[in-house]
Amino acid sequence: MSFKVVYTAASPGADLGEKLLDPLDVTLVKGLWRTEDEILSQARDADAIIGILSVQPFNRRVLGELVNCRIVSSISVGFEAIDLEAASEYGIVATNVPDYCIDEVSGLTITFMLALGHKLLQADRAVKERQVSFTTVGREALTEVLDPMFRMRGQTLGIVGLGRIGTATALKARGLGIRVIAYDPYVLGAVMESRGVAPVDLDTLLRESDFISTHTPLTPETSSMFGYEEFKKMKPTCYFINTARGQCVDQPALIRALQEGLISGAGIDVTVDEPISPDNPLIKMPNVILTGHSAWYSATADREHYYKPMMQVIGALKGEWPLYALNLDAKEKWLEKWGKKG
Ligand code: NAD
Repeated sequence: MSFKVVYTAASPGADLGEKLLDPLDVTLVKGLWRTEDEILSQARDADAIIGILSVQPFNRRVLGELVNCRIVSSISVGFEAIDLEAASEYGIVATNVPDYCIDEVSGLTITFMLALGHKLLQADRAVKERQVSFTTVGREALTEVLDPMFRMRGQTLGIVGLGRIGTATALKARGLGIRVIAYDPYVLGAVMESRGVAPVDLDTLLRESDFISTHTPLTPETSSMFGYEEFKKMKPTCYFINTARGQCVDQPALIRALQEGLISGAGIDVTVDEPISPDNPLIKMPNVILTGHSAWYSATADREHYYKPMMQVIGALKGEWPLYALNLDAKEKWLEKWGKKG
């Protein structure tokens, strides 16, 4: 049997794992298509699609016009741009890759904490620009940029969203002697405690934390979850970290909070404008570290985030229900139509 697989988000030069398709009779069509019409013009008759379900519009209209499609497989963790209800109705299974960069994102979160807490960038700049040293004549010059500075051990990290990345971050932070508290209405307090994390309500987390890191998905509930009122409740010495989604934060409110000194600084991987616009005030703030949505990146994660979606597609073309299925309610109908017989 021959198949058509369409890759709607093929980054030029990336190893997409095309070789994995060799044992099957597959025609692979690849490119970078963003709009509904662009996607449909390439993929209307596809048996399988690989794309980015956090941004590409796999809405009811698009899904309804895919006449042969059995799987839409995402190379991202987030899947806010696909209508899962419609996918199930049309018998299409959607998948993501939930586990390819847990270590990377939690690692960057800890890096943000340490770099912000140790004022790493400020010290680096002072030494390079003014050749100051704490041991000789530079004490005053350095304390000017470093104070106030606190011992990391014993500081409190407040995690919002104790899922995969939030939990990995908590475990790493505990290894540094940091007290971890978390707010997540969907995780039982006893489960949090078993991970060495104290469950708290959001208000307590905002008021007590020295570092606040958000790790929720982007949903109507979490959209702009951090606004001016939330920043006002934080300690003026608090650092805010966002590696989740830019839209989880009211960006103008974050900028205002930093300008008014409501918080001490921020580590921001994700912004509402990506790439960040040149006139975004965050760019000029010395107490803000920006990493341009690279939190997920390592050579290992890069390979996994291309190979795993490809493996989901290969399995589905063979009639196997995928491991990373998002719309579990589609399973029965899907197996009836596409499942391996006998
Ligand atoms: P996850 O689904 O494992 O965990 C999310 C957690 O958030 C869950 O425990 C859920 O209960 C909780 N949550 C949901 N709504 C909440 C709310 N209103 N308040 C508090 N908690 C809430 O997700 P994950 O894999 O840990 O990913 C976390 C975030 O990181 C997602 O937004 C994802 O898109 C993002 N991410 C970013 C990058 C990057 O490169 N920057 C890479 C991977 C993932």
